Amino acid sequence: MTYVVTDACIKCKYMDCVEVCPVDCFYEGEVMLVINPNECIDCGVCEPECPAEAILPDTESGQEQWLELNANFSAGWPNITRKKDSPADADEFKGQEGKYEKYFTPEPGSGD
Ligand code: SF4
Ligand code: SF4
Repeated sequence: MTYVVTDACIKCKYMDCVEVCPVDCFYEGEVMLVINPNECIDCGVCEPECPAEAILPDTESGQEQWLELNANFSAGWPNITRKKDSPADADEFKGQEGKYEKYFTPEPGSGD
């Protein structure tokens, strides 16, 4: 089991999650973060910290797509352990449906 970041993070990137993770297993893409499933220790501390409710345990139904995305992109994106400023327009995208189809990019973020 692991926790995963879902499409609810896309273009929100509030980054409250990275500060609390005891094993620093968040990785930054241009428009969202992901968790490395091999490093996550399933502590669950990050889940309630996310204002966009973007973090879920992969045991919830329908998370297969996000588990695959987290596993794939955490291998190539840079590690992030410190909260940075979230995008100025983050609140406009909070709770929007279909963000993966509209906005996802495989580009890396800048990391720490
Ligand atoms: S707190 Fe939530 S929205 Fe912000 S970066 Fe973490 S997972 Fe994404
Ligand atoms: S569940 Fe714990 S170890 Fe896994 S990403 Fe969240 S804070 Fe980090």
